Amino acid sequence: MPKPEFDAIVIGAGSVGNPTAYFLGREGLRVLVIDELASSGQGQNKAAIGGVRATHSDPAKIRLCELSLDVYSHWKESTGTDIGWKHGGYCFPAFDETVESTLQKLLPIQKSYRLNIDWLSAEGIEHVVPGINKNGLRGGTYSPDDGQVNPLRASESFTNEARRFHAEYRYREAVTSLVMEDHTVTGVRTDQGEYHAPLVINAAGVHASRICAMAGLDIPILPDSHEGGISAPVKEFLGPLVVDLRPGPEGKTTNFYFGQDADGQIIFCYTPRSPISGENRNSTYEFMPIVAARLVEVMPRLKNLTIRRVWRGLYPMTPDGSPIVGKAPHVEGLLLGIGMCGQGFMLGPGVAMNLASLAVHGKPTIDSEVFDLLSPARDLLGGKRESLK
Ligand SMILES: Cc1cc2nc3c(=O)[nH]c(=O)nc-3n(C[C@H](O)[C@H](O)[C@H](O)COP(=O)(O)OP(=O)(O)OC[C@H]3O[C@@H](n4cnc5c(N)ncnc54)[C@H](O)[C@@H]3O)c2cc1C
Repeated sequence: MPKPEFDAIVIGAGSVGNPTAYFLGREGLRVLVIDELASSGQGQNKAAIGGVRATHSDPAKIRLCELSLDVYSHWKESTGTDIGWKHGGYCFPAFDETVESTLQKLLPIQKSYRLNIDWLSAEGIEHVVPGINKNGLRGGTYSPDDGQVNPLRASESFTNEARRFHAEYRYREAVTSLVMEDHTVTGVRTDQGEYHAPLVINAAGVHASRICAMAGLDIPILPDSHEGGISAPVKEFLGPLVVDLRPGPEGKTTNFYFGQDADGQIIFCYTPRSPISGENRNSTYEFMPIVAARLVEVMPRLKNLTIRRVWRGLYPMTPDGSPIVGKAPHVEGLLLGIGMCGQGFMLGPGVAMNLASLAVHGKPTIDSEVFDLLSPARDLLGGKRESLK
């Protein structure tokens, strides 16, 4: 067996791969990161609107996102780099009984995990979301400790910090197979060479199934596309990221989200009612008319907003809607940080810390029983686990 040149190889310089390289490097490991694209964050990381919240109902997502919030909110202090952290919280307003009851049912679960979230009256919501449409507003939840980050800046900064810990990045290089000895992964082959390490981490986003297949594993991660957009900056007026859970009146959308980022830009996206499978990333003609109507309906004062850019990206979806994190089943030397669905940016640092801890200390940083909820060995076809995005 060739002597390994690295302690760990990370496949994918995205929302999960970059923080993983950083935390492994911080532990003193010699890390190689390989990405088939031209630079870090060019996969789905740059498609994210940057919402980061711990207020889920799934304990594993809660604990991982608490870690991410801690990392993102202290990043400037610890590295000196501004990644656009905004401590604005999340707000889920309720305009109908169905949404109110969904949110009210979740609250005791969220509070049982000691999350800072409460029900506010309609007046309370108007206070935290100035200019929200008062018509039919019944109140809503507000979680002030959640926030937003700029995904492009975060990915660049994680890369720079990982390099400071001697991580090596190879771009425009695709992993084509895994080097294996019996059931142990000992390296990767790319379209340009072969590299060896006792540990390989699959953080390949929407292409993660292909990497799994190289180790003989059948783990379904399917791309599902979502569009987003961003306006020109306006004077700061909005703290939280706002999530409207009502189905859109046009019949094509469910959840709709928007917020104002640290640069003053309004950033927004929605969830299509019927999932759009596949890797097509061309913007559609219907996105902007639908999203503009929803924006103005929830916040009439946004009617004169100038839209600067729209895009379409992919969620790496799992059959049960939860990420797949941990040791690959039946194979040694392979860790998985895959299937992040619509929350890979907020999960990234938390997942990365746990993967690094598994690699170096043999156990996750969060409670093992909670971590195991995301186990690659779980029954993936056992049904969707969390209804709220
Ligand atoms: C419109 C929209 C809005 C979103 N908003 C949010 C949000 O507010 N908050 C949030 O948390 N999430 C959000 N997301 C989801 C988030 O973008 C994804 O969940 C996340 O980026 C996935 O991270 P990842 O590391 O798994 O994949 P990626 O970031 O895509 O990284 C995977 C990398 O692996 C590389 N790769 C793949 N195969 C190979 C190979 N064979 N060889 C070499 N390299 C390879 C790819 O090039 C890519 O760079 C949003 C997504 C969209 C589309």
